[in-house]
Amino acid sequence: MTAAIHLSQKNLKVTLIEKSAYPRHKVCGEYISNEILPYLNWLGVDVSELHPTKISTFEFTTNTGKATKAELPLGGFGISRYALDTFLYQKAVANNCTIIKENVTDVSFSNDIFTVIANQVLTAKIVLGAFGKRSNVDQVLDRNFFNKKSPWLAVKAHYAGNLDNDVVALHNFNGGYCGVSKVENNILNICYLADYATFKQYKNIEDYQQHVLYKNKHLKSVFENSTLLFDKPLTISQISFDKKQPVENHILMIGDTAGLIHPLCGNGMAMAIHSAKIASELIVAYYADKGISRDELESNYRKEWNKHFGKRIFMGRILARILTHKTITNLFVSIVASFPKILPEIIKQTHGKPIAII
Ligand SMILES: Cc1cc2nc3c(=O)[nH]c(=O)nc-3n(C[C@H](O)[C@H](O)[C@H](O)COP(=O)(O)OP(=O)(O)OC[C@H]3O[C@@H](n4cnc5c(N)ncnc54)[C@H](O)[C@@H]3O)c2cc1C
Repeated sequence: MTAAIHLSQKNLKVTLIEKSAYPRHKVCGEYISNEILPYLNWLGVDVSELHPTKISTFEFTTNTGKATKAELPLGGFGISRYALDTFLYQKAVANNCTIIKENVTDVSFSNDIFTVIANQVLTAKIVLGAFGKRSNVDQVLDRNFFNKKSPWLAVKAHYAGNLDNDVVALHNFNGGYCGVSKVENNILNICYLADYATFKQYKNIEDYQQHVLYKNKHLKSVFENSTLLFDKPLTISQISFDKKQPVENHILMIGDTAGLIHPLCGNGMAMAIHSAKIASELIVAYYADKGISRDELESNYRKEWNKHFGKRIFMGRILARILTHKTITNLFVSIVASFPKILPEIIKQTHGKPIAII
């Protein structure tokens, strides 16, 4: 949606195809790094209208109850996907993007033109792939990661509960980790990533939470002092962190479609929005300068994507390995507790700098 807003702002004709309607909830930690604020402002998207929480402190606890805290180097804000996605959608509508509510079932490229099937046939000179971490389009494109089983699932819900507005907490438990932070309207968002092998040993979410998540006393206290606001938590499975290509079949992939960073980094949305900016700028230049070939457009995007996000995704993978290993996690927290300056430095490795607007 940010790419659609950007490109329409630059007077390009944009069609956005989205299979689901807004507003709707989405499995997400709902913490967004401040690095994207300059760009959102440039797009004319003033998120302060949604009254997000301002988050500046990171808390981390282990399964054995150890806890540590750090200031977030850049900080971020807490906003529900229910509110944010709808806000962006409305901005895209206001910018005169054509929005089609359909499922894309095929994308092909031939004679320098794309053909997209979404219950109707559309043609386009450029296609951006923004279909998230796992979609039927990945299967159509025969992307490598699609057929590999992934061991991860995620659960999220909104609660009425207590937490300082400026805190994002990450609680470790056996086989996963759980993010807790406030979004608008004093709502508490609890979202966790869990390994499927452990999860399937329990009869339902409640049972799993009580037997596995509650082993971390901090997490137990969070759940016991919160009241569920959804009918039931939302769940998703088959979350893959495998490497993907930023360009496939001439489609410029943005957001999770190009690569998903481990959620513990809290940087997926910022990366999605930043990659949309990079792709949009290159597309605007491609249309303005007839001397730029499609090959150059694709190779420039690939280069920029790897430059900005390659290291962050790699660091996210390493951190996730550490945090899902009990002994190493305890050691990690002991080290961080003794040398508190380390934690902000680690966080910086998984985040970008504020996005420059030129
Ligand atoms: C458990 C968990 C917690 C997370 N927590 C955080 C966090 O706290 N902070 C953070 O920054 N990031 C977080 N993330 C990551 C974040 O959710 C993603 O990085 C972000 O949503 C990526 O945006 P996107 O636009 O690429 O994909 P999405 O937001 O998933 O959007 C893709 C869209 O494509 C549509 N679509 C898919 N297939 C089709 C089709 N065939 N036809 C039409 N439409 C289609 C979908 O309906 C969807 O609306 C988390 C992720 C997980 C799994």
